[in-house]
Amino acid sequence: MKAYTDLSMDELLALKNKLEAEYEDIKGKGLALDMSRGKPSKEQLDLAEGMLNIVKGSGDTDTLDGLDCRNYGGPIGIPEARQLMGDIAGVSAEHVIVHGNASLNIMFDTVARSFTHGVLGNTPWAKLDKVKFLCPVPGYDRHFGITEYFGVEMINVPMTEDGPDMDQVEKLVAEDESVKGIWCVPKYSNPQGYTYSDETVRRLADLKPAAVDFRIFWDNAYCVHHLYEEEENQSQILEILSECEKAGNPDMVYEFISTSKVSFAGAGISAVISSKANLEQIKLHMNYQTIGHDKLNQLRHVRFFKDMDGIKAHMMKHAKSVRPKFEAVEQVLKESLEGLNIGSWTCPKGGYFISFDAMEGCAKAIVAKAKEAGLVMTGAGATFPYGKDPKDSNIRIAPTLPTQEELALAAQIFVLSVKLVSIEKLLQLNHMNQG
Ligand code: PMP
Repeated sequence: MKAYTDLSMDELLALKNKLEAEYEDIKGKGLALDMSRGKPSKEQLDLAEGMLNIVKGSGDTDTLDGLDCRNYGGPIGIPEARQLMGDIAGVSAEHVIVHGNASLNIMFDTVARSFTHGVLGNTPWAKLDKVKFLCPVPGYDRHFGITEYFGVEMINVPMTEDGPDMDQVEKLVAEDESVKGIWCVPKYSNPQGYTYSDETVRRLADLKPAAVDFRIFWDNAYCVHHLYEEEENQSQILEILSECEKAGNPDMVYEFISTSKVSFAGAGISAVISSKANLEQIKLHMNYQTIGHDKLNQLRHVRFFKDMDGIKAHMMKHAKSVRPKFEAVEQVLKESLEGLNIGSWTCPKGGYFISFDAMEGCAKAIVAKAKEAGLVMTGAGATFPYGKDPKDSNIRIAPTLPTQEELALAAQIFVLSVKLVSIEKLLQLNHMNQG
């Protein structure tokens, strides 16, 4: 097949007629498919079913150090859960505070606390004229949502396959004291599935920010979410906390992890990982905020997974369920779009998403077209701060929730939508060139 960009007006029009018939056909089926959010499928959730009754009740609810998980106490998490979450992140338990069911909550609280109380004795951000965050793009919409909610000015920094463009990051943090943070998803990034290189991690740890209260928000949500067994060993990311220590910036990072996509999304456990000084500030805040998080759930997680080997074995079960879905979508994209010059996409080795870049100015129309035929995708623009993709080109594909059969149909609708919108765009461009 010739690239669409090489087709004549007549060829484009003929193709449009043919594809429109296919589109009407599939639209007529009245489908209701969802590839919008990175939700685990029922099959994945069932993998952790055994966790629900692993704690048997009275007599079985004590931690290793004798605390009854049914009672108050242990606000920073039970020791064995701190150990498990530390193992996942590759740090010792003393650097870990276990929280409730969602790491996003900790991220929100961390930004909120910085606004109300400042970071380690520095001026509360709320008292500053301006607070800015660097946002590697495309990125995670909920990160951008948090900083938008607090009125932070978000600055786009382009992502590369090795992580954010570090030349830009270094320059921006060094020259502007109002730059207070950067959002990072270092492993299998949302939405591209990229993993930061060692060099990127070292350069981040080695930053020389103008602001003493600059922090890296290291959301390691997908650190154990490998799609292929060999990736587990091959693509280990450098541990940022120790890199920051080595670089003389021990307090510069807050790391966040959770088991949302390991056990249950919505009923997992989460953790913040940081330096002693940062954790002390968080503990102080927690004294007023909560009597403690759900320790029974922490105990269930520890009993079920036991240790890092247990986590790894469990994640391979997820991979077995999720990998064919990624591969199915990638195959349809390859078979239907390769060489047409109307889109490019990532083929991640882990995580939850595939990132698709359409021709400029087409993403919104593609998502709308897919919706009309019964496929809900993540809103175009969502992967950028303020929901504004300057090129209107990026679309996030979330393949985990649909069944294999649904996925085949969803992928078909998606590529048809991409083709039709691209043709429309090319016809417009041709028309303008001729006009
Ligand atoms: N971080 C990233 C990068 C994510 O993609 C997600 C889920 N989509 C989360 C955090 C949410 O994590 P949690 O459920 O722990 O709040």
